[in-house]
Amino acid sequence: MNIDDITKNFNKDDAELINNAYIFARTFHEGYKRASKEDYIIHPLAVANLTYSILKDPVSIASALLHDVVEDTSATQEDIRQRFGNEVSEMVDALTKLNRINYHSNEEAQANNFRKMVVAMAKDLRAIIIKICDRLHNMRTLQHLSKKKQLRIAKETIDIYAPLAHRLGMGSIKSELEDLSLKYLNPDIYYTIARELQEKRGVRETHINAMVVQIKKLMDESKIEYKIEGRAKHIYSIYKKMEKNGIEISNISEIYDLFAVRIIVPDIKTCYTVLGIVHSCFKLVPGRFKDYISLPKANMYQSLHTTVFGTSARVVEVQIRTKEMDNIAKNGIAAHWRYKEGGKFNLQDKRFVWMKHILQWQKDMANHREFMGSMKMDLVTDEIYVFTPNGDLKVLPRGATPVDFAYSVHTAVGDRCTGALINGKMFPLKSPLKTGNIVSILTSKNHLPSKDWLSFVKTSKARNKIRQWIRTKERGSSLVLGRELIENRLKGINVNLSEYTKSKETEELIKSLGRNTIEDIYVDVGNGKLSVASAVKHLYKDQKDKNKLQDHPKTLLNIPIIIDGIYLDKVMVNFAKCCTPVPGDKIIGFITRGRGMTIHRAQCPNFEKLSIEKERLVNVRWKTASKVFPVSIGVVTKERVGMLAKLTSITSSRGINIINVYMDTNHMTKTTTVKFILEIKSNKQINTLIRVLQTLEDVVSVERLMK
Ligand code: MN
Repeated sequence: MNIDDITKNFNKDDAELINNAYIFARTFHEGYKRASKEDYIIHPLAVANLTYSILKDPVSIASALLHDVVEDTSATQEDIRQRFGNEVSEMVDALTKLNRINYHSNEEAQANNFRKMVVAMAKDLRAIIIKICDRLHNMRTLQHLSKKKQLRIAKETIDIYAPLAHRLGMGSIKSELEDLSLKYLNPDIYYTIARELQEKRGVRETHINAMVVQIKKLMDESKIEYKIEGRAKHIYSIYKKMEKNGIEISNISEIYDLFAVRIIVPDIKTCYTVLGIVHSCFKLVPGRFKDYISLPKANMYQSLHTTVFGTSARVVEVQIRTKEMDNIAKNGIAAHWRYKEGGKFNLQDKRFVWMKHILQWQKDMANHREFMGSMKMDLVTDEIYVFTPNGDLKVLPRGATPVDFAYSVHTAVGDRCTGALINGKMFPLKSPLKTGNIVSILTSKNHLPSKDWLSFVKTSKARNKIRQWIRTKERGSSLVLGRELIENRLKGINVNLSEYTKSKETEELIKSLGRNTIEDIYVDVGNGKLSVASAVKHLYKDQKDKNKLQDHPKTLLNIPIIIDGIYLDKVMVNFAKCCTPVPGDKIIGFITRGRGMTIHRAQCPNFEKLSIEKERLVNVRWKTASKVFPVSIGVVTKERVGMLAKLTSITSSRGINIINVYMDTNHMTKTTTVKFILEIKSNKQINTLIRVLQTLEDVVSVERLMK
C-alpha cells in the first residue's frame, strides 16, 4: 500500500493536502510500532485507503491519516490547525474525541460513548465513517492483540459499530465487522460455518451456474443489460439464521440457502422484468418475496428479494437491483455524499430523518440508561411498514404497537390514545402491528399516558415522550406536596411563605442549599430528597424563631387526599402492595422518593419502619370510592366436599369479583386453607363478607390478610 495509490486520483492541490497529511503523520508516528510489530503508519494509511474507497474526499482522507496523531504523539490540535486549516483540524478533533471513547461493560459509560458519537455525527457524518474504517482495520488486525482485548473489542464492534454501519447503510463493512466479531466471540461456530461454506463451494458453483445459464438465456433474448453474480451469504447472517430457527451447529448441512444470486440492471423497470424472468424459470418459495424498491428500508436500502427453488430443488435467494441501489447497499449514506455540497451531508434530506430523530432524542434524554436503550433499539431492530388511513407510510421497528404509531403521528395523538382500529377492527393498544396494517388511532381528550405503556412500546420516541410526561407529572406532584409540607411547618411561627421567599436574602439562602428556586426546594422536599426540617432551618435565618421552630412539635400534615384515579389534587398516589388498603380503612401516606405518595393501612407491619422518618408521613383520608382494590382474605375450613364452591358462590352473589384462589389442605389437622384475592370497593364491603363467611357451618376462621 502506497500513498501515491490515493493521491494519483486527485488534482494537484488535493493531492498535496493528502500527501502533506501523510508526511506529517509518518513523521510524528516515527518509531512507534503496532502490536503486529509493523510501523505504526501502516494503520493510518490503511484507514485512509478504506476511507478513500467510500468517500472520494481529500479532507476526509487527510483526517483519516491524522486520526491518531493528537491522541498518540506529541503533535497538538493547534499544530494540525496551523498546518491543515480549520476543516481538517475540526474533523481530527472529532476523531480524537471518538478515540477516547473506551468501551466499558458499564452501561452508563457505554451510553456516554454513544452520545459522543451522535454528537460527532451531527457535526460531520464523515468523522463517523472514518471511525468505522478505523475500527474495520483494527478488527482486520485483531489477531495481534491479547485474548482479553480481542474479546472486548469484538464485543464493542458487534454492539456498537456493526449496528451503526448498518444504520448508515454501509452493508459491506457491516457484514465484514460482524463476521470478524463472530470469529473472536464464537470461534467454534465461525469456523464450522466457514468450513461448511468452503466444502459446499464446488456444489454451489455447479448449481448457481446451472441457474445462471437459464436466467441469462431469457435475459439475452429480451436484450437486457445486466451483471450477475453468485455469492455465499456472510457467516454472521447464517449464524443468526441458525439461532433464529434453532438449528444446532451439528446440523448445519440442513441450511440450504447459504448462497445467493445477485442481478444488477440499469433501471427500476428492468428490475421487475428480471423478477418476472426469474419466477418464470424457477418455482418461488412462498412468503419470501420482498419489495424493498417500493418500500425502502430506513437505511435507504433498496432491492427486490425473492427466494426460489433452483436446480435440484436447492433454495436460493435472488436479489435484483439497479447499479445505484447496489452502491447504496454497499456504501449506504456515503453513496449520497457529494463533495460539491460543501463537504457536509445534508441532514435535511428525507433519508436522514432517523438520524435527526436520534439527535433530538439525545437532547431530550435525561438519563444515560434510557439513551443507551433507545440507541440500541433503534440501531438493531428490523422495520415494519404500516399506513395511516390516508395511506401515509410509517416505518416502525418490528413489534411496534399502536402507541408507537400514535406517537409517530404526533405527541398529542400519543398522549391521548385510547385504542386502535387495525384494518378496521378494534385492537388493544399493546397489539404488535404488522407490515401492511392500516392503523387508525382513537383518542380521547381526557386520556393520559400510562406508565404501563413503557412495558410494550418499541420506539424511542414513544418511550421518551411517555417518560417525559411521567417526569413532568412527578415534578408537579412533588412540588405540591413539598409546598404543603413546608407551609404546614411554618404555621407554628407565623411566617407567610410566599412573601418571605420573595426577598433577596432568601434567594441567596436557596442558592446555598444548592437549588435555584424555591420550587426546586419544594420538589425535593416533596420527593423526599430533602427533609422539611433542614429546608426550613436553612431558609429561616432569625435565630430566636429558629429555636421556636425546633421546639415546634412534629405534627403530621393533614391534607384531604383523594382517592379516585391516580392523580388527584395534583399529587401522585400509589397504593402499597404490602398491605393493600381499601376505602374506609384507616390509612397513612408515605412520601416515596420520586414517586409521590404511597398509601398504607395504619396497621401495616411496615409502618414501624416507615415511622422512623416521621418527616415523610402524611395523614390522609379517603374522599370517594368508585374504584376497586385487590384485597386478600384467608378462610380456614374443615375438610369438606363442595366447601370451595360454597365459598365462591356466596362471594360472587355479593357482587364481589374473585381475582384468584389458592387452596391448601392439611391432612393432619383435616383442615383446608383457602386464600381469595378479591376486588373490593370499600372496607365495609369486605368486613360484611368476612362476617357472613364466619357464620357458615364448618368454617373455622376468616381473616383479612395484609396481601
Ligand atoms: Mn486508529
